[in-house]
Amino acid sequence: MVYINGGWRTTGTKMEVIDPATGEVIKNISTCGKKDVEEAIKYAKNSFEHWKKTPGPERGAYLAKTVDIMRSRAEDLANTITKENGKPLSDARAEVQSAINYLEWYAEEARRIYGDTLTPSHEGKHLMVIREPIGVSAAITPWNFPLSMITRKIAPALAAGCTVVLKPAAKTPLSAIQAFECLHEANLPSGVVNLVIGSATEIGNVMTSHQDVRKISFTGSTKVGKKLYEQSAHTVKRMSMELGGHAPFIVFDDADIDKAVQGTLLSKFKNSGQTCISTNRIYVQESIADDFSKKLAEKVSQLKVGHGLKEDTEVGPLIDKEAVDKVANQVEDAINHQGTILCGGKRHDFSDAQGYFYEPTVIGRANDKMEISTEETFGPVAPIFTFKTEEEIIDRANHEQYGLSSYCFTDSLERGMRMMQELEYGIVGINDPTPIVIQAPFGGVKESGMGKEGGMYGLDSYLNEKYVSVKFNKNGVT
Ligand code: NAP
Repeated sequence: MVYINGGWRTTGTKMEVIDPATGEVIKNISTCGKKDVEEAIKYAKNSFEHWKKTPGPERGAYLAKTVDIMRSRAEDLANTITKENGKPLSDARAEVQSAINYLEWYAEEARRIYGDTLTPSHEGKHLMVIREPIGVSAAITPWNFPLSMITRKIAPALAAGCTVVLKPAAKTPLSAIQAFECLHEANLPSGVVNLVIGSATEIGNVMTSHQDVRKISFTGSTKVGKKLYEQSAHTVKRMSMELGGHAPFIVFDDADIDKAVQGTLLSKFKNSGQTCISTNRIYVQESIADDFSKKLAEKVSQLKVGHGLKEDTEVGPLIDKEAVDKVANQVEDAINHQGTILCGGKRHDFSDAQGYFYEPTVIGRANDKMEISTEETFGPVAPIFTFKTEEEIIDRANHEQYGLSSYCFTDSLERGMRMMQELEYGIVGINDPTPIVIQAPFGGVKESGMGKEGGMYGLDSYLNEKYVSVKFNKNGVT
């Protein structure tokens, strides 16, 4: 199913949506091709002409209406997320709330788009900076947050006055379809939002090469992000890129160990570790490493793994077989490099389910020769590295390629301030394993991306500054 110019369409070509907890097909949905994408862009371009002139509060009112509709369907949406993504229902509910929060924030922000006046350097001139919507924005979203990544892009785009053509991940299109049903019922003018589902390369090629698409907003892997960046260079588009990460989680010997263990559980095992801001490397100062490792392994071995629809499940499946294979390979490589398995360490063997599960795992004696020390894991595996000094850990924590999120646990304010300065990451959580809030700028540095989403920063990335200089007769009345 695709949604173009305010209407739903089906086509002959189909794709399967799989429940990762069982491996079973839950739905077949129809997909679109190149021509549909071009048509969606054409309608988005046409509707931009009136949408950009629609007053901000009116644009915000459409978003607020969508909030009401989404709220009334929250449980249904959460069920869909769990079925196609696998995450536990409680996490899916939290994602729906987060998706609503983005819509709500930008419903209000739509009335707060300001410009500037500048002090002139000559008499008889008035200088202004006007902020205008960029134009048609193409959005591409991943499967790990199939609903909130959509509203995190659509809400600021619409608030700013841009129109949107969105491609969701092939593995999780059902949440996207439901999100667009909510937008449809909010009576958004036709063509303002459009949904295209189908071949990633085909859709991506049209989006990145089309003259009428003025902005690409992408969340996904660094590999695909680079490709889209390259493809978009020919038409010099504005880009927002939320890409991969490899977060260090540093625990100093002056930290509260129990809080640090609890923080690791949240930062590493939520969403089965399939979060771009998930901890990838746990660095523990030598003198507390044994104590920390023992406590973490004990907690991790108690995590309840299962189908996300069971209310007591804490860790669901991974998204597909390739994801399980990648995790299994990293663990095998870690063992080959003298790592020790403190808990977990193998595919989860359920007698009654064929899904893509891997046991929550803790690896002790991790070292910098292991693949896991540089490659994104995207799975429930926690490797514990040790370090001696602050100086050493600053050097090791800063990744060559990635710079999305980082965490540091210490009871020393001075050390916390130094780490804040030294960590080369877009997000730093000091004694805070869950720093993400709606009003903060979310995004990375280095190859983790460019541009920010969230708060007032998210709106900026859908606006152009136009400088206007007005010259007038300085002698006044003529
Ligand atoms: P991915 O393979 O890069 O896919 C992301 C999206 O890009 C999907 O919609 C995918 O479509 C599409 N895509 C793939 N190849 C494309 C192409 N040639 N042209 C246009 N679109 C293309 O990433 P993923 O496996 O879904 O997500 C995991 C990655 O996303 C991780 O690296 C994670 O760190 C990152 N991520 C980053 C953030 C952040 O905010 N920084 C948030 C979440 C995830 P199909 O699904 O149809 O292939």
